[in-house]
Amino acid sequence: MSSRKIILAIDGPAGAGKSTIARRLAQRLGFLYIDTGAMYRAVALWAMRTNTDLADSHRLEQLALAAVIELSPPGSVLLNGEDITALIRTQEVSGAASKVSAVPAVRRALVQKQREMGARQSVVMEGRDIGTNVFPDADIKIYLDASLDVRAARRLHDLEASGDQANIDGIVREIRERDQRDSTRGEAPLRQAVDAFLVDTSHMTIEQVEQAILKIYRDRTSNGKELEH
Ligand code: C5P
Repeated sequence: MSSRKIILAIDGPAGAGKSTIARRLAQRLGFLYIDTGAMYRAVALWAMRTNTDLADSHRLEQLALAAVIELSPPGSVLLNGEDITALIRTQEVSGAASKVSAVPAVRRALVQKQREMGARQSVVMEGRDIGTNVFPDADIKIYLDASLDVRAARRLHDLEASGDQANIDGIVREIRERDQRDSTRGEAPLRQAVDAFLVDTSHMTIEQVEQAILKIYRDRTSNGKELEH
């Protein structure tokens, strides 16, 4: 088995299905799953709890530098030792995360943590700027997209599953605003890397998306088969 560390980068807009597919692929390949959006959400939650002005970039930088964020076991998020998994998926935190993530110093602090995580072992890392900025030399880059309607319907499903009140019009508005902010900010905006494979998941099942990405992975890595569980 090769000891070379592999970086599989998955980027795309809100609700494209990145988390679900990234977690499955990480499990399948035996890689660490890193949800970078959860890291921005953790800093946003901390800022909200401390009544930090989301325009106060100096204070936000301090929070991002001081935050001890753990992402294991896969799917859970710990901030300074506290399990915040269930607290960071609200629409309020989504909006705050998008604002906090536009602050260059916050990005620098979290990107450094992400690079350290990726240096230690093979990872499936998902976010907005993994293939363009965090790991521009990633072995495989995927850009997951889907129509706004499909993405909003998926978000509604997720929010309802976690017992949140939500309506489809509000979600469409929230996703549209967040995508707009994420793709127009000055620092590392959401963008498809030139060498990323576009996968439009609008009319695909999770299994189909998984198979499509695994095929790209095998084609791109000579040792892909060996690394699979
Ligand atoms: O992926 P998720 O929706 O959890 O991300 C929440 C927010 O964090 C995004 O809307 C985006 O503003 C920010 N983010 C980012 N860069 C990343 C991951 C997330 O700016 N790599």
